[in-house]
Amino acid sequence: MNQARVLGVRVDCLDMEASLDRIEQFVDAGGHHLVATVNPEFVMRARSDQDFARVLESADLCLADGSGVVWAARRQGCAMREPVTGVDLIPPLAALCARRGFRIFLLGAAPGVANDLANRLRVEHPALEVEAHAGTPDPSADAATLALIRAHKPQVLLVAYGHPKQELWIDRMRESLGVAVAMGVGGSFDYLTGRIPRAPTWMRRAGLEWLFRLVRQPWRVRRMAVLPIYALRVLRSN
Ligand code: UDP
Repeated sequence: MNQARVLGVRVDCLDMEASLDRIEQFVDAGGHHLVATVNPEFVMRARSDQDFARVLESADLCLADGSGVVWAARRQGCAMREPVTGVDLIPPLAALCARRGFRIFLLGAAPGVANDLANRLRVEHPALEVEAHAGTPDPSADAATLALIRAHKPQVLLVAYGHPKQELWIDRMRESLGVAVAMGVGGSFDYLTGRIPRAPTWMRRAGLEWLFRLVRQPWRVRRMAVLPIYALRVLRSN
């Protein structure tokens, strides 16, 4: 099975290596491609936000970002063993960009965070051409953000404004960006620069990353209230 539909949202049944191959193919093909990192919060949001649902449906690649989505996709016959999260994908994607000479642009997160990550990636991959900008999804900043992106001419753009803002921003700007691959990456820059700790591997393997996040960032409780509803709906759906 190549694809699942999790409560109506498409999920591609690909592991990390196949996801990277697909992204490489997108860059080689040119044009514009949206990569979405689908987690249970995305799925629940898409049920009540038609615009977000439309943009997810238009995505060229929908990664299973989180054990809740892998669980639901496996119930439909997907053979994935583990999630392909944005935060796990960025380091090998940066290595791929360095190897293939693809330029990369990091957009979003709090001031200084994207630049910090860009500096770390430059140290790790001296050949990598990477630029960064905090920016904001507010339309008043679009022209300035676009000018910076177009000056760097990236093939790959990572947008860290959180969902659904990042996907809606990419969709709104898609004609002007000139990038082959645009991907929303949520809080990945915060994790990769060590600003927010990630759950230990055993918790991630046990599907408990949500619990770690809840303890470290209790303000997430309202957003996470949808998770039990998500689980129940999946159990009822097939
Ligand atoms: N963010 C931003 N501009 C905004 C709203 C959010 O740069 O107007 C950033 C924020 O600093 C954080 C990320 O977007 O780095 C959101 O992370 P979160 O983990 O909440 O996103 P999710 O993975 O849940 O979509």
